[in-house]
Amino acid sequence: MTGVLGCIKRDGRRPAVHTAGIDASGQDGAMSTTGGMASGPTTEPLDAKALRAKYQQERDKRLRPDGNDQYIEVTGEFSRYLDDPYVERVEREPLFDEVTVAFVGGGFAGLVTGAKLKEAGVDDVRIIEKGGDFGGTWYWNRYPGAMCDTAAMIYLPLLEETGHMPTQKYTMAPEILAHSQRIAKQYGLYDDACLSTEVTELAWDGESSRWLIRTNRGDEMRAKYVALGTGPLHRPKLPGIPGIERFRGHTFHTSRWDYDYTGGDPAGAPMDKLAGKRVGVVGTGATSVQCIPKLAEACGELYVFQRTPSSIDVRNNHAIDPAWFRTLEPGWQQEWLMNFTTLQTGGFADDDLVKDGWTDIAQRIRDRVMAETAKGEELGPDTILRAFQDSDDEKMAEIRARVAEVVNDPATADALKPWYRQLCKRPCFHDEYLDAYNTPGTYLVDTDGKGVEAITETGVVVDGKLYELDCLIYASGVEVGTSFARRAGFETVGRDGETLSDHWSEGMRSLHGIHVRGFPNLFVVGPNQGANLISNIPHNLTEAGRTIATIVAHAEASGVDEVEVTEDAEREWVDLLQSGGGMSIFGNPECTPGYYNNEGQPMTKEAVLNMAGYPAGPVAYFQYIDKWRTSGDFAGLEFRASQASG
Ligand code: NDP
Repeated sequence: MTGVLGCIKRDGRRPAVHTAGIDASGQDGAMSTTGGMASGPTTEPLDAKALRAKYQQERDKRLRPDGNDQYIEVTGEFSRYLDDPYVERVEREPLFDEVTVAFVGGGFAGLVTGAKLKEAGVDDVRIIEKGGDFGGTWYWNRYPGAMCDTAAMIYLPLLEETGHMPTQKYTMAPEILAHSQRIAKQYGLYDDACLSTEVTELAWDGESSRWLIRTNRGDEMRAKYVALGTGPLHRPKLPGIPGIERFRGHTFHTSRWDYDYTGGDPAGAPMDKLAGKRVGVVGTGATSVQCIPKLAEACGELYVFQRTPSSIDVRNNHAIDPAWFRTLEPGWQQEWLMNFTTLQTGGFADDDLVKDGWTDIAQRIRDRVMAETAKGEELGPDTILRAFQDSDDEKMAEIRARVAEVVNDPATADALKPWYRQLCKRPCFHDEYLDAYNTPGTYLVDTDGKGVEAITETGVVVDGKLYELDCLIYASGVEVGTSFARRAGFETVGRDGETLSDHWSEGMRSLHGIHVRGFPNLFVVGPNQGANLISNIPHNLTEAGRTIATIVAHAEASGVDEVEVTEDAEREWVDLLQSGGGMSIFGNPECTPGYYNNEGQPMTKEAVLNMAGYPAGPVAYFQYIDKWRTSGDFAGLEFRASQASG
């Protein structure tokens, strides 16, 4: 199923060649060819052995000894990259009150947990959010072309509860932000929300069995329960490029898009202020893939600085038919969620309801396994691994063929071909990205895996050539693999002064990824140490929200002061996580470096634990947690009166 669905070749365009640069010394440079494809164009088909060698060669040249430390933390002189460009700060009086549940983070984690708490009859819920509105990642990421790669029918939470019909199979970011606001309104979460407010400290007070929450607004609130939904991927990072602080042109990170500078808006109005401007983008991950087509339309000249090409699979978006949507039976969303998760993680189902790039690879693997089994071959790990590899090789060959088919200039096309297994990096799905390189004035500057060499006052240096720019946009991603406290922006201090950083100094320890020993009445909301389903993060969050709401409602109904995981239950859960499996796509050392494999560095015990998932996989986890929750036993948790009073 290869092809150029949705891609229109615009004949007569100037092919995207690498532009004339200026030597860093200031001399005019020669026309640069596709940056350092030293091994030359690679013609497929390669046999499996040659393909493995090519993958390894491409991986090896990208390995860096500094791994994840190569990135610059956005603090100090760089902290302006975090400023909220979307709202004016409104002053307010500090709060010194108490609520039943405080939730840190107004993204999907806070929204679904808040909604489930309200449904469970827990009304007194306050969401504290550093952005100026709900939406989390969809509040911050308003870059042009922003949309979701996971089908809206399963990605958007609470569709049945809100009655919202997604307009398209894959929704654009403004619709997702509006859906976040819809949930917040419907469940009354705006009523007591503290927006544009950053938590600075969270500490357990054992005397009163309450959490004390301090914020950058001078608040000193108290809460009986606190939940943390601070987001796995939300703190922007900058590339560690020498001279990055020297650039005198305009710069911003994609998660804080500066429409005042570019013109246009998130709804798609053209970025008319970029006409005649020379714009550079560092990075070619999922974000860059979505905004490049819009920038290509708008910029005078666009230079895309690439270290590793993304894999760009077919997207094939389409409108959702309201008549069809109305035929769905109650309970449909849960059915779709489980169907997607089952198929995407290698299980069997009669229908593929979502039918997208995520389920496609799994389908191919299943077909191969079935064919081998039909031949009488025993279904051992070798058969499955071979099916996995063959399916992946086939898929990646199609992805590379698609590049060659769409991109006019052969050198540019060659540089855009990914040489790694599809799940080594976040797969991308787009039908206009590759074609953007056929737009006059759009140039791919490939760095042959080395990354940008330097940044000067006036531009970006690659291979000794200076690309002069008016504006430099960092599509360099978000922190992954740094400490929880650093990403959250505050420390959490539990019983006896132990911090979450102390407790997790050798890796995350929890029950279900939610409860942590020594941190009573605290809930962590995220995919890790639970289902760890990365293809549809909201599914993890909705399940966690349900679980937390059930526990809080039970604790409140029982009149207890504290709920905490036992030491044994936490240890046993961590032992289970370490017992094998559950790490299917993370930590593969053969992969090209990226955040899925700790930038190619050995996976420390800490990194393994931080990214661990239920060994039997996401479907088994969702079934397990549903039983655990509905049994009413809450095995592993202690419900008790205040330790101070007891
Ligand atoms: P990524 O981390 O995926 O990409 C960062 C990019 O910056 C990479 O291409 C990286 O290259 C490049 N880079 C880093 N340092 C340098 C350097 N020194 N020189 C040149 N290039 C450099 O960030 P994104 O913001 O694109 O995506 C982050 C995550 O957000 C995604 O993985 C995805 O999970 C999520 N997302 C989800 C979307 C959705 O549809 N739901 C849409 C967009 C993002 P290299 O690859 O070599 O490291």
